[in-house]
Amino acid sequence: MRLFDTHCHLQDPAFAGDESAVIERAAAAGVEGMLVCGYDLHSSRAARELAATSPLVVAAVGVHPHDAASADLATLDEIARQAGGPDVAAVGEIGLDFYRELSPRGAQLAALEAQLAIAVACGKPVSVHSRGAEDVILAPLQAFACRSGPARGRHVGVMHCFGGTLEQALAFVEAGFAVSLSCAVTYPGNHEGRRLAAGLPLEAIVVETDSPYLPPQGRRGQRNEPANVRFAVEAVAEARSADPVAIAETSALTARRLFAASVSATGAR
Ligand SMILES: [Zn+2]
Repeated sequence: MRLFDTHCHLQDPAFAGDESAVIERAAAAGVEGMLVCGYDLHSSRAARELAATSPLVVAAVGVHPHDAASADLATLDEIARQAGGPDVAAVGEIGLDFYRELSPRGAQLAALEAQLAIAVACGKPVSVHSRGAEDVILAPLQAFACRSGPARGRHVGVMHCFGGTLEQALAFVEAGFAVSLSCAVTYPGNHEGRRLAAGLPLEAIVVETDSPYLPPQGRRGQRNEPANVRFAVEAVAEARSADPVAIAETSALTARRLFAASVSATGAR
């Protein structure tokens, strides 16, 4: 099974000292690529350092909406400088979180707009976090897609660990985004997740672990890791009554196309 984990945080302290074993287990499980997303300056640098250690790892740099209050001009300048690097595959994770609202909404919107402009300027896709803000974030993402779409081809970014409704998800697909489903689709109570898995066009589905968070059912409470991305694939396949291998192939192809610049630069498939 060919797998691509489109969103993980291998630079998280939960993996300290264990990164190469985790990458090896992912490779053994068929993971041919994993996007390690930054959430602030430090973790963005760490994502690039990890990408330099393995052809399986590609880096995204960005400031998470939780940290948006820290995204001053100097920080955004540094993100812009890093995002332009040939080893950086995407800008992320960026977005809006009106559910936990750890940074004020105005700061979140300003950091989002600034980082979307950075992604346009350097021609990179985006990894987007949206929680409780799907109806607000659609317009800025549509504007981003209009500005970057022609250069990027089919998809301009990924809605990471999407938690909205199928109807909302289809609006993002219409705008040019792929929708990422996590191992949370395995949770018995997650009916909307399985509705998304069944109802989205297959070409728009990618999968992720969001490691170290969101372990699959049966491993809840444990540290999640990219090798577990197959559980997301299997849950999507079950919801669609489809072959997991076909789901894995198509979603890995979508992910490779999105993050191709860096993946090809590192010599991975
Ligand atoms: Zn994340």
